[in-house]
Amino acid sequence: MILLKNVKLFAPKAMGAKDLLMGGGRILAIGDDLSHFAQEPVEVIDANGLMAAPGLVDGHVHILGGGGEGGYRTRTPELQLSTMIEAGVTTVVGCLGTDGVARSLEALVAKAKGLREEGVGCYLYTGNYRLPLKTITGDLMKDIMLIDEIIGVGEVALSDHRSSQADFDLFKRTVADARVAGILSGKAGVVNIHMGDGPARFDYLERLAAETDIPRSQLLPTHVNRNPELFEEGIAYAKAGGQIDFTTSTTPLFLEEGEIPAAAAVARCLAEGIPADRLTMTSDGQGSLPLFDGQGRLQGLSVGTCRSLYDAMVEAVRDHDVPLEQALTTASTSPATILGLQGKGRIEVGADADVILMKDNLELDTVIAGGRVMMRGGKHLVRGTFESAPETT
Ligand code: ZN
Repeated sequence: MILLKNVKLFAPKAMGAKDLLMGGGRILAIGDDLSHFAQEPVEVIDANGLMAAPGLVDGHVHILGGGGEGGYRTRTPELQLSTMIEAGVTTVVGCLGTDGVARSLEALVAKAKGLREEGVGCYLYTGNYRLPLKTITGDLMKDIMLIDEIIGVGEVALSDHRSSQADFDLFKRTVADARVAGILSGKAGVVNIHMGDGPARFDYLERLAAETDIPRSQLLPTHVNRNPELFEEGIAYAKAGGQIDFTTSTTPLFLEEGEIPAAAAVARCLAEGIPADRLTMTSDGQGSLPLFDGQGRLQGLSVGTCRSLYDAMVEAVRDHDVPLEQALTTASTSPATILGLQGKGRIEVGADADVILMKDNLELDTVIAGGRVMMRGGKHLVRGTFESAPETT
């Protein structure tokens, strides 16, 4: 068991100074003074001066690697445990992307199980960019209902030259199947939609809302901050009751070309009256990011990381005056709720013991995942199976 003493608790709601008791992978008690538990076999952490928040929930990560759009050597590497931990991310949702041939869902499930064995939370979307959907069992409903890790469908590409240019009816049937499978399995059955730069933008999503009684909550469009026109349509879509996701991994060139930084996008939406519980940020981690020189020549590739989610959360607070509890909501509570991840995204009795501790300047200090201290004082205590021995970050 772990007893956190005197921590400034953001659950994500600001709760003031509290003690927090964790054991068996869960939050066991929250109180003004839980000192009496210090008699038990418990590790006491004096967290005076630190803020506690739910571990971040990164709802869109290419855990198996992604990319490959510049040829085979541009396929990106798999996610490693430390990449999550140094981002304060204790739960990821993994997905395939453009490539559903040389990347398989079976391998994705194996990777998710591996991350779970290493001590963090991991869920999955079935399918990839293309419709009709490729699945494990041959039926997306079976995938959602029978495979523990799979909580929905994605990322399905729309309004993008890399999509399969599916007709509206096929899209509609896919969402309908995901919804029913979600209802039958007690999962969210959400369809995560990769929004591209194509001119159709939100057309299919608005048509679905107009022509069916499937609620907007069945969809979670991502990359909504990728260009100003898409972003404006996204705001209208969210104002009508939809939920939207902003991607935090970026490059200077993307921003120059009009991408809205995720932190700025969140601030604008909150100012427009869209509640934080319909806004999420995700990293698109392990996706490939092209790097160009001053003349626009491709210099190389880098990889998106979960850390961009943490940095965007901090940026929202520091540069855009977003209250910390709302910034935390978009990076933990909202994705956990929208995706139906039980026990995630909240610090409350009975929730999973996924807790991060931050200094006053929002520097990440400690990461606890499933009740296990993974990082303390900025130092990794636990590494992934094939990562090097513990060292200072
Ligand atoms: Zn995408």
